[in-house]
Amino acid sequence: VKNIHPLSSDIQKKTSRHPCFTCGASHKYARMHLPVAPACNISCNYCNRLFDCLHESRPGVTSEILTPEAALAKYMGVKKHMENLSVAGIAGPGDALANWESTRRTIELIKEYDPEVIFCLSTNGLMLPEYASEIVKLGVRHVTVTVNCLNPAIGEKIYHHVHYQGKRYQGAYGASILIQNQIAGIKELTSQGVLVKVNIVMIQGINDSHVPVIVKNVKDLGASLTNIMPLIPAGGSTFENYSQTSMRDIKIMRAICEVVLPQMSHCRQCRADAIGLLGDDRSLEFRDPEVAKET
Ligand code: SF4
Ligand code: SF4
Repeated sequence: VKNIHPLSSDIQKKTSRHPCFTCGASHKYARMHLPVAPACNISCNYCNRLFDCLHESRPGVTSEILTPEAALAKYMGVKKHMENLSVAGIAGPGDALANWESTRRTIELIKEYDPEVIFCLSTNGLMLPEYASEIVKLGVRHVTVTVNCLNPAIGEKIYHHVHYQGKRYQGAYGASILIQNQIAGIKELTSQGVLVKVNIVMIQGINDSHVPVIVKNVKDLGASLTNIMPLIPAGGSTFENYSQTSMRDIKIMRAICEVVLPQMSHCRQCRADAIGLLGDDRSLEFRDPEVAKET
C-alpha cells in the first residue's frame, strides 16, 4: 500500500520545521512534549510504569502530569521565551491515545492559540483504527507508532498484556490484536496524508533479527522513516536484567535498513515533558515549582 496522497506543500513546509522528522531541523527548531497522557492500554515488558513511556522517552525523572488547560498555559509560557518552538508533541508518559480526551482537548486548545504549531503524537497504535480519522481532522500530520514486531509469537515475549475494548488479553493473542491494529492504523493514517515514523525497540535475542522485516512492511504501509532504538533495561521492568542493545549493533541495523527506508539516527529518546532543542533539554527551567518539589 502506497501513501496515495502526495505530500501537500503545507506538510512539506511543516516537516522541514520538525526536528524529529527532519534531521537538519534539529539544531534550529525546538519541540515541547506535553505530558497530558498518564495512562497506558498495554504493558510492554521493558516498561517501568514509574517512569516515562520507553517507546518515546528515556526512563528518568517522573514527569509532571498536566491537564489540557495547564498544558496550554505552559505552552503559552514557553512560546514567549522560545521563538523557535515549532512542535507540540504528546508522548506520554503513557500512551497519547489511551488518554484520548486529554490529548484531543490539548490539541484543540493549543491550535486555537497558535494555528502555526505542528502537532506530533506518539502511540503504541492499539487505538489507531478508532482515532485515525479524528487525528487527521484535528490537523495532526506527524505521528510516531512503536512497532516492535509483526509476529505474535515474538510479540508475546515483548508485551505482557493488552487492554482492548474492556478486556485484558495476554500472550500471542493479545499481541496479535495490537499488531493488527498497528497495521490497520498506519495504513489509515498514511492513506490520509499523515507522515508516520515507526519506532522499533531492538531487543537482543527477541526481535533483533526481525527488525528488517518490520522496516520492509511498514514501508509498504506508507511509513516515511523508522527509528531503531536500543533497549534500555529499566529497573523494575520484566527486562531489567536484559542487556542494553549496543549502539554498535543499532548502527549496523540502521545501515542494513537504510537501503529500504530512511532512518532516524538523531533521536534522543526524550522525556515526556522535554522542552527545547533535541540535544538541549530545558524542561526543568519551565517546571511548575510546586510540582517539581513533589517529584
Ligand atoms: Fe510503557 Fe509505553 Fe509500553 Fe505503555 S506503550 S507499556 S507506557 S512503554
Ligand atoms: Fe524527537 Fe526522539 Fe525526542 Fe521524540 S524522543 S522528540 S522523536 S528526538
